[in-house]
Amino acid sequence: MPPSSESLRITVLGSGTSLGVPSIGCHCDVCSSSDPRDNRLRPSILIRYDGRSVLIDTTPDFRTQALRAKMNRLDAILYTHEHADHIMGLDDVRPFNFRQKCAIPIFGSEETLAAIRRTFHYIFDGHSAESSVPQLETHELDGGPFDLFGLEFRPLRLLHGRSKVFGYRFGTAAYLTDHSEIPPESLDQLRGLDVLFLDALRYKPHPTHSTVERSMAYAEELNPRRTYFTHICHELPHARTECALPPQIRLAYDGLEITVGEP
Ligand SMILES: [Zn+2]
Ligand SMILES: [Zn+2]
Ligand SMILES: [Zn+2]
Repeated sequence: MPPSSESLRITVLGSGTSLGVPSIGCHCDVCSSSDPRDNRLRPSILIRYDGRSVLIDTTPDFRTQALRAKMNRLDAILYTHEHADHIMGLDDVRPFNFRQKCAIPIFGSEETLAAIRRTFHYIFDGHSAESSVPQLETHELDGGPFDLFGLEFRPLRLLHGRSKVFGYRFGTAAYLTDHSEIPPESLDQLRGLDVLFLDALRYKPHPTHSTVERSMAYAEELNPRRTYFTHICHELPHARTECALPPQIRLAYDGLEITVGEP
C-alpha cells in the first residue's frame, strides 16, 4: 500500500543557489540580513514517510544540514544532476553506513552517476582503504518511474541550460531544483499537485536557471495548491520578495517543513 499523503513530510535542507547566501565576501542587504530566512545553504530536500528518509542531492553543506534537521537515518539518495552544489557532500553519508550497517542506494542518470564515480573515485575503485569510505549501491535511472519503500518516484526530464537533468515527482509533490526549461512531456506529469518546488534564481534572466517571472508563469499554468521557489540567490530578500507574490507562491527557506496534503 502506498503511504497516505498525510504521512509524507518534506524538510527544506537548503534553498540557496550554488554560492549559498550569504556568499563569501559579499556585504549586500541580503547577505547581511538578520532574517534567518535570508541564510540559504545549497539546495536539497529530505522526504520522510513510513519511517524512511529519502534525500534529494548531497550538497557541500550536507553535514551541517543533516545535523540541523536532526537526521538519524538515510535510506536512499536521489540525484538531480552532477553539479558541485548537488553532489559534493556525498562523503558525509558515512555515519549513516555505520549506524545502519548497510550500503545506501543512490539513484541518478547515467551521466550523473559517471560524474560521481569520477569525482569520488576512491569510493568506487575497490582498493581496500585504510580509512572509511561511503558504502553505496548505484542505480541508474532510464527515466521511468520506480518504487522506493512503497512510494512511486517519477524522474522528470528538465533542461538546465544545455544539460539534461532530472526533477522528481512523488505522490502529489514534485521537486524541480535546477531548470531553465520544463519540456512539455514533463509539464504533463506535473498536474494535480499539492506541493511544487521550482527553481527561481532571481529576477534577471540567466542561461541555466529559471527566474521569478518564468516560474510564476509555470505555477500559474500547472496550478498546484502550493508552490515554493528554491535555488535562490542573494538578489531576492525573503520578506520583500514574498510581498510581491500571490499567497499560493512562497519562497522556500532553510528548515521549512511541509506536510504534503495538509494546509
Ligand atoms: Zn544547482
Ligand atoms: Zn550578497
Ligand atoms: Zn546545476
